Amino acid sequence: MIHTLNVRSSKREDLVDITSRVAELIRRESKSEGICYLFVQHTTAGITINENADPNVGRDMLYALARLIPKDDPNYRHNEDNSDAHIKSSLTGHSAYVPFQDGRLLLGRWQGIFLCEFDGPRERTVKVCLF
Ligand code: ZN
Repeated sequence: MIHTLNVRSSKREDLVDITSRVAELIRRESKSEGICYLFVQHTTAGITINENADPNVGRDMLYALARLIPKDDPNYRHNEDNSDAHIKSSLTGHSAYVPFQDGRLLLGRWQGIFLCEFDGPRERTVKVCLF
């Protein structure tokens, strides 16, 4: 079965921690062991796994991506004024896999799952599939 998480971002660029929502979904499924596959259905958002203990890690990721891929560049040709968001989306990727066991995500102690918003704020959709 494929589940849908609706995720609201609050800024143009935002890392939204969805770990607890994914964990809750696995608990509800009462499936003890397998792989959780997450897929973002967007071209200006992504998904990543990184530290969720210190919020500065996410802030630094967005800062470094903005340095690598400036918002405004006179050589961009896409006419929606969001070329940087499309590029950042491809860099972070659209999916992630996390194993789970005994109904719990097998994330590392400091790891969290983030929806990466690059052209918000808006509502995004994450498809979650448990194998
Ligand atoms: Zn666009």
